[in-house]
Amino acid sequence: MRILVISDIHANYTALEAVLKDAGEVDETWCLGDMVGYGPDPNAVVEEIREIKNLTCLLGNHDVAVIGKIPFEAFNGDARRTLEYHERVLTASNMDFLRSLTSNLKVREDASLVHGSPRDSVWEYILNTLSARLNFDHFTTPWCLVGHSHLQCMFHLDEQNDRVSLKPIRAGERIQLQPRLIMNPGSVGQPRDRDPRSAYAIYDSESKTWEPRRVEYNIAEVQRRIREAGLPEKHAVRIAEGW
Ligand code: ZN
Repeated sequence: MRILVISDIHANYTALEAVLKDAGEVDETWCLGDMVGYGPDPNAVVEEIREIKNLTCLLGNHDVAVIGKIPFEAFNGDARRTLEYHERVLTASNMDFLRSLTSNLKVREDASLVHGSPRDSVWEYILNTLSARLNFDHFTTPWCLVGHSHLQCMFHLDEQNDRVSLKPIRAGERIQLQPRLIMNPGSVGQPRDRDPRSAYAIYDSESKTWEPRRVEYNIAEVQRRIREAGLPEKHAVRIAEGW
């Protein structure tokens, strides 16, 4: 199966559209959460996600907050202001869709899927080899797919010597997968690795390959809508710079 893996769309509809177009035909789509937060288009994004066939979709921390299960005080000022706006504008049926989902780890094919980390599905960021090593003890499949950090990356555990390394990856290059790995497809709507292009990945569950990909989208258009909605200027600036 050819599987599209997306995460951290953050109400950026233009980026999501670019990714869906660039990915082409897929058999399944796995979304690792954070459909809302930061961006100007919460309804358009949730509606587009709802349309996707053969979808596995998890909640991220921003999604859990907007449905009222985490207090907004847990977020910094700019993120909180946007969540308040999203809570106000999200339609009842889009809210119901979000409420129908969970943030619990799910297993699909050979992969464990989670937003944050296998030991803390909502909040923990896997940013370095230490946090990656600790998390390899919390899932049993050959690989685990995570989002949340907005960094397109891959951690490998060498079980012979119990060593974790950060694997060098290049967008557009197909990687043959070896157990065990933690992979992050990167963020569709707000990349934080200084590359503002939208990030996602294609996972082939038969040939066991992973292809991290990047695609350009109309950033100026999204910045215009962020400003129009009166959302924090910081959210407009960062998507152009990738932080
Ligand atoms: Zn996020």
